[in-house]
Amino acid sequence: MRRIRHWVGGVERAGMSGRVGPVFDPATGEQTAEVDLASAEEVDDAVAVAAAAFPGWRATPLSRRAEILFRVRELVDRNRREIATLLTAEHGKVLADALGEVARGLENIEFACGVPHLLKGGYSEQASSGVDVYSIRQPLGVVAGITPFNFPAMVPMWMFANALACGNSFVLKPSEKDPSVTNFVAGLLAEAGVPDGVYNVVHGDKVAVERLLEHPDVAAVSFVGSTPVARAVYETGTRHGKRVQALGGAKNHMVVLPDADVEMAADAAVSAAYGSAGERCMAVSVVVAVGSVAGPLVDAIAVRIPKITVGPGADPSSEMGPLITREHRDRVAGYVEAGSAAGARIVVDGREQPVAGGGFFLGPTLLDEVTTAMSCYRDEIFGPVLSVVRVGSYAEAVELVNANPYGNGTAIFTRDGGAARRFQVDVEVGMVGINVPIPVPVSYYSFGGWKASLFGDRHMYGPEGVDFYTRAKVVTARWPDPSTSTVDLGFPQVR
Ligand code: NAD
Repeated sequence: MRRIRHWVGGVERAGMSGRVGPVFDPATGEQTAEVDLASAEEVDDAVAVAAAAFPGWRATPLSRRAEILFRVRELVDRNRREIATLLTAEHGKVLADALGEVARGLENIEFACGVPHLLKGGYSEQASSGVDVYSIRQPLGVVAGITPFNFPAMVPMWMFANALACGNSFVLKPSEKDPSVTNFVAGLLAEAGVPDGVYNVVHGDKVAVERLLEHPDVAAVSFVGSTPVARAVYETGTRHGKRVQALGGAKNHMVVLPDADVEMAADAAVSAAYGSAGERCMAVSVVVAVGSVAGPLVDAIAVRIPKITVGPGADPSSEMGPLITREHRDRVAGYVEAGSAAGARIVVDGREQPVAGGGFFLGPTLLDEVTTAMSCYRDEIFGPVLSVVRVGSYAEAVELVNANPYGNGTAIFTRDGGAARRFQVDVEVGMVGINVPIPVPVSYYSFGGWKASLFGDRHMYGPEGVDFYTRAKVVTARWPDPSTSTVDLGFPQVR
């Protein structure tokens, strides 16, 4: 059985814990590899290697760091297909979607190539007599990233690109469900000239995460995953004095007003609900149909679903692949059952769409007449199940979205600019789309939700990412100039 090992100090390192986890091809259901699961001691070793590499990397001139990042950019660009193929083999998403993931990750490396500009501080000449004041941004030290299964290439890029550009060294704990891609990317970083020890990967589970959260030499932790784990990571990490940004789960609503273009809204809902089999934190999970649009919209969505080709991600004709594990597939199917038992109307039942082979497939499913009391509305399903909630007015729709504990993404579909603008002002969600169903911000803005979708003060990547991975220092400087020197016992004042 192929073994996926850690990556520490610029080389693969075999795990010594004696614990491994299975890695599957979700399209066949077969185990294809096993991954080392790190012990606390192995995490300590990786952190020690990263800590030893930090002073040299921090002292590396900005122009040299940028040069290396440009090379990382070129290598990731050249290896898009390789990365996407690895992604598809372990995550299951279709190749076109995997290529999209790599492209969106690459944006973050491109942003980081320009980080010298973002690290510029402020300078105030003559803040007081003969005194100048200026601010500088410095790296934190060893920073850790803990990432989810659903974007095994992109989400680490959200983190390491800025972390490295700012002069930190990095320890990544990727998802144990689809770990191969992180070792491949680690090899590209080494090839690009990232010094040994600056970028490290420890594979593992809860044991590795808990050690990272407690380790005295880890200065900051970036986490992306489900809400219960995000909350625990934030609480434990901050209790141990770390800076933490922990992005959690989601329940994204797409509000469709009666004046919307129904065909366009249906295309968007289908794309955003079933792309990547719904395993996206920005997937549309609930359509909030306002007034008279509900009937025609449900019909238009239902017509489109049978045209979606479900099959192995590596097959170019597939549009939607399998789910990540058998347990997850069964859990998602359970929400369809529970919704139906609670009174939802199953318009299209994905359970009735078998795919040959033993893969973890579930067809796209549409539930109508869903209420907020049902588990299929309340919980994050993270699968290809779209719920339609019918409401009477715009005000009711906004109230519904704002009452939801999650606040990651949302979208409104309308031709009414005034209503769209009101929505953008009123809605309590971090990322808003106006006739855009998956409003993932470009890399020069920052990504993050509100409420139970983010624990911490700073969003991820973009300018807030640079902020997160640096601390500010303000210097107040006076150079000897005997012509202005006097004795003054008063408290320093600006004059
Ligand atoms: P997960 O929370 O199960 O795992 C995330 C990471 O935490 C993994 O590396 C995992 O090994 C580790 N982990 C799991 N259980 C743990 C525990 N008890 N203690 C410590 N560490 C633990 O999430 P997942 O299933 O890999 O990913 C899907 C989830 O991630 C969904 O909820 C999705 O919404 C969320 N997500 C959010 C965003 C966002 O930007 N907000 C982006 C992508 C995914």
